[in-house]
This record gives sequence, C-alpha cells and structure tokens, in this order.
Amino acid sequence: MATVSSDYAVQMHGITKRFGAFYALKDMNLDVKKGSIHSLLGENGAGKSTLMNVLYGLYQADEGEIYIGGKKTDIKNPNAAIANGIGMVHQHFMLIPELSVVENLVLGRRSRREPFLDLEEASEEIRKLSEMYGLDVDPKAKVCDLPVGSQQRVEIIKALYRGANVLILDEPTAVLAPQEAEHLGTVIRTLSEQGKTVIFITHKLMEARDLAHNITILRNGKTIVTVPAREKSNEELAQLM
Ligand code: ADP
Ligand code: MG
Repeated sequence: MATVSSDYAVQMHGITKRFGAFYALKDMNLDVKKGSIHSLLGENGAGKSTLMNVLYGLYQADEGEIYIGGKKTDIKNPNAAIANGIGMVHQHFMLIPELSVVENLVLGRRSRREPFLDLEEASEEIRKLSEMYGLDVDPKAKVCDLPVGSQQRVEIIKALYRGANVLILDEPTAVLAPQEAEHLGTVIRTLSEQGKTVIFITHKLMEARDLAHNITILRNGKTIVTVPAREKSNEELAQLM
C-alpha cells in the first residue's frame, strides 16, 4: 500500500466487499500511477471485476477508502465515477444496438440545444477522439451492424467523451480476435502516452506482461502483490497467481 499522493490516479486502500457471508474482496489495496497502464491479473473469481465495480460505483465497499488524484472520494454510483473522471468498459457492452454510434454517445446527456440533440457536435467530437487515439469508427453507423471490435472502440470513445481520465477495461481481449487484440494494445499504449491512466483486467499472464507498466496480482479476493511488469519472470508471476 502506497502513501496517499497526487502521483496516483487511483488508490483503493483496505477495500472489503461481502456478498452475504461471502467475502469477494478482503482488505484489498491498489495503487495506480497517473498515466500508467496497470494490469489486474488473476484467475476467474479472484475479485478483479468486483474491485473495479466498486471503483466505478456499481458496488459500495463495506470497508476501505478510495482516493482519486490523492483526494478521498466517495463514489456512490457510476455518475459519481464519471464526474470524477473514471470510465469503465464492461465485459458485456452496454450500448443500445438499434441506435447509431453518435446517438449512443449523446444518450442521457443534456443537450445545449434542447430539445434537439447535439448530433453534429458529438460526431465532430467522435472524429477528434478517433483520430487522437486511433479509434476508428463511423459516428453514423448503427451499433448492431458493427463487429465486436468496433463496438468496443465505441465504448472506449463513449468513456472518453464523458471525460474519462482513468479508463477501466474489463477483460477487453476476451471478445477479440488476435489481430484486434493487437490493435487494442496500440490504442491502450497511445492512451497512456497521452496521459490517460488505463486499468486493464486480464487472466492472461503474457498479455499483462506485454502491455502493462505495473501488475497487481489478485487471488481469492486478496491483493497478493504489485510488481513492475518487467521485473519478474513468467514463472514467478504464474506462481503468484
Ligand atoms: P473475477 O472478475 O476476478 O473473475 P469477480 O470479481 O467477478 O471475479 O468475482 C469474485 C467473487 O465474488 C466470485 O467468487 C464471484 O462468484 C463473487 N461475486 C461476484 N459478484 C457477486 C454478486 N453480485 N453476488 C454474489 N457473489 C458475487
Ligand atoms: Mg471478471
């Protein structure tokens, strides 16, 4: 556990989460440096998604504190998370398939030209974000017509459009073909180079090592260790998992 400091985008200290009598998370610690790619690595059921659902305000922790940029922050719901610059792309996408990309983005947000939607302005913003981060999508395309890799890019753009500085990706490569996963890796590196912080969940050791600056290993609802990705051998990491 690191000292609370503005060098960290996210710090979660002493997080415990119970479902009934079952401890999904036990006194967990996570310290994520600003602008870094941080991987949460662990087997199925280790508590990776639960920890990030707490950070995104979908679950309330029973114990523990969250600090964003060194400031203690209460995250009561996803709107509070978004207001604090946290975005999350879930394993199962939350887009509305019958709507276009741009409609999905502006949905639920107030328009400056009420009662009209700011579709033109949002499309322009999508094009800017696409270019900046290599997230190629057509704002006018209907989501259900897009391949899964593109839908994931829409989810990422949506989070960035809402002002995410910290982007949580929950097992993003699980739905991707190897070539798409490669492309996602490039996007993640670009995000980090541009100052965004990426928390990247995976159960694949090699993926974490390829991409992440730091790796936190989770097992049975506990944080086992946080290490620089290059410091340990595959064997050592596998052992820790
Ligand atoms: P991971 O993402 O690492 O695969 P999860 O965070 O999804 O693991 O789950 C951690 C543990 O908590 C698992 O044993 C899972 O069954 C349990 N769990 C997760 N969500 C709930 C819930 N809503 N109710 C009860 N148990 C849950
Ligand atoms: Mg999970």
